Amino acid sequence: MDWVSESSTSPFERACVSVKGMKTYKESIHRPSACRNSVLWACVLCILTVAGCRRRPVDPSPGIDSPKQTWVRVLLFGNLRMCTITSMSGFEVEDLGSQTLADFRSDEPFIVQFLDGILVVGEHHFGSDILIRPHEPYVFQINNRPYRGNLRLSANKSGQALEVVNYVPLESYLLGVIGVEMQSYWEPEALKAQAVASRTYCLFIKDRFGQNRTWDVTQSESSQVYRGLDAETPTVRQAVSETAGEVLVDLSADGQELIIPAYYSSSCGGHTEAAQNVFGGEPVASLRGVRCRYCASVARRSNFYWKPITMTMGQISEKLMRRYPTLEKLEEISDFKVSKLGYKGRVVRVRLIGKNGETDTVRGEDFRLTLDPTGRKIKSAIFTVEKKGNLVTFQNGLGFGHGVGLCQCGTQGMARKGKTYKDILSFYYPKSKLVTIDLMETTTEP
Ligand SMILES: [Zn+2]
Repeated sequence: MDWVSESSTSPFERACVSVKGMKTYKESIHRPSACRNSVLWACVLCILTVAGCRRRPVDPSPGIDSPKQTWVRVLLFGNLRMCTITSMSGFEVEDLGSQTLADFRSDEPFIVQFLDGILVVGEHHFGSDILIRPHEPYVFQINNRPYRGNLRLSANKSGQALEVVNYVPLESYLLGVIGVEMQSYWEPEALKAQAVASRTYCLFIKDRFGQNRTWDVTQSESSQVYRGLDAETPTVRQAVSETAGEVLVDLSADGQELIIPAYYSSSCGGHTEAAQNVFGGEPVASLRGVRCRYCASVARRSNFYWKPITMTMGQISEKLMRRYPTLEKLEEISDFKVSKLGYKGRVVRVRLIGKNGETDTVRGEDFRLTLDPTGRKIKSAIFTVEKKGNLVTFQNGLGFGHGVGLCQCGTQGMARKGKTYKDILSFYYPKSKLVTIDLMETTTEP
């Protein structure tokens, strides 16, 4: 599949492969205090052990042996100057510039600083691009938040701060996503549907956008929310392992299996929306919109029937003009009209009318998220508009989120009625096909 060929030439793979053949010095680094006071530490350790203060064992990291080109690169921070790194098992640091290795054999926190283009880990100096690899069980903490896999720190575009990217096996990545994107106590079949949707979505984004940047996804809602080990639960682990490698594909005209953009949102409001009505582009057969009777009884009432929001026309004009500089030709937006509706009255297109008579249009979803970038007030594009003088009220709101693809509350509703995750996926992504990809394959075929 495409992501295999993409990463076969990526810096990530080159970096990982280069370790094997290069000549390096390898240095073990211990904390001085730990060496000097070894006897004291041994006593402390005995006391802690007797007191029952052993560390909780960490579950294995699924996919840790999978080829590195199939791992997910998650942008944790784009502009960081300092952080602390800890690993209970110690870690290895590879300087990707000089191709040297250093071993940090301590479970104490190390302060990492970026000073004049030099990365300083504890007291050890590196270049501006390093890969941190924790030893088994392959877990590290950055600023006290635990993650699986490796961590790359490199100078960002400004050269003044760090870009911090977590390289994590796909299946381990999902452990940190599913319980944040969906309630981890929901029905097992709902969690499994979410796991397949999240896996598919991640691979689609990785393939579509990852090739031209140093990371595949962010850790926020702009991709999928990812919280590392803090988000893992036994139910999430079960959902991920029971669907391991399963993704949704569409068949192209020439019979090729293409990973679909498996969008999902909180509650559709009664009918999911065709993808092209929300995001533009060509129609996607598996994202055409289906009537959903399952979310109203599951969603929180205030999320499903959201309360009216009032703004002045001036505020609306200012937000839109700031977001879209091309609207300058309208001078100021004096009015707008909903010009196209989708299912359940979802606003698909809005015509903006300028003070000088010029007009332009924006997509309904963009209109909503420009007026409310959090998406937590105007919770969906299903609303009606009431204008009174200078005041505009968005009312009769239904649903939460963009409404394309899988409806998460509807998924829980279906699972409660005894539907399997396969039933759920084929309902919300009609025409799609569930296939299993083998991430252990080391093929580099396109
Ligand atoms: Zn729904």
